[in-house]
Amino acid sequence: MTPPPDGTLLAQHDALLIDLDGVVYVGHHAVPQAVQALRAARDSGVHTAYVTNNASRPPSTVAEHLRSFGLDVDDADVVTSAQAGARLIADRLPAGSTVLVVGGPGVPECVAACGLVPVTSAEPTPAAVLMGYGANVCWSDLAEASYAVQAGALFVATNGDLSFPTPRGLAPGNGTLAGAVAAATGVQPIFAGKPFAPLIEESIRRVNAVAPLMVGDRLDTDIEAADISGIPSLLVFTGVTDVRTLLLAPSYRRPTYVSADLRGLALLPSDLVVTSVSSGPDGLGPLRAATQQAWPRVDQGDPDPLRDIDVDALQSLVEQALER
Ligand SMILES: [Mg+2]
Repeated sequence: MTPPPDGTLLAQHDALLIDLDGVVYVGHHAVPQAVQALRAARDSGVHTAYVTNNASRPPSTVAEHLRSFGLDVDDADVVTSAQAGARLIADRLPAGSTVLVVGGPGVPECVAACGLVPVTSAEPTPAAVLMGYGANVCWSDLAEASYAVQAGALFVATNGDLSFPTPRGLAPGNGTLAGAVAAATGVQPIFAGKPFAPLIEESIRRVNAVAPLMVGDRLDTDIEAADISGIPSLLVFTGVTDVRTLLLAPSYRRPTYVSADLRGLALLPSDLVVTSVSSGPDGLGPLRAATQQAWPRVDQGDPDPLRDIDVDALQSLVEQALER
């Protein structure tokens, strides 16, 4: 084991909480530089938890997917929102309680692993409902969940993502499915996944982290989750967030650090922090400076917070940094 070079962002943390889609892979392809950076982290003894809002796949399936990219990942390194949701229920209800499960195979598996009993009917009334995404979820599943929630079952949803991208466009996510039950019953679910704290807490517990760093590509899930959980975050530009979205972010969706990709882990935190005045070894100094220009304006309700900021030029800097 080789400790991370002194002073790097990696060396400041004992654990990385890594988002998957847009950070480690996009579709079937590994994100360039990600595998090398994550192998270096593991080789230097920094724990890595792979944190996903996707509840439908069991952790072992996700781990297998990650191993296919050449990453050294144990099944226990994967933390899903289904696990966080099941843990949330297990923390509130006695062992052996019945939980009506809706969603892919990851949902009942995680419920059983927490000492709870997964069921698929609202008759007799289960103690809780755990709703997660599944491609085969149908009306009768939503109806059973609604009956159980009306009868007083604790209503938990793995995550609240309203949609997710598919090759044919946006498809309804678990937040939309849970929203149907909420609309029918008038009861809002407790969400386990990002941006809410349970998934982050479960991840921190999993790797025994003292000084974790959240790494993600989305402001409204990964970065907001870090903010809610009170831990620092690194935003990378290998996924969905562009420069404009970053510059318009409300205060609770602002990362601590920004980097084009995971190579930032090997740089100095003082160069990556959004308040940095350095030109940045990655060429993104002007982007960090622009956040310090735009964000106070956003906070003041300025109608044109991006005036005098050449957003396209900054976006080009990001593209250049990604290609370097
Ligand atoms: Mg992502």
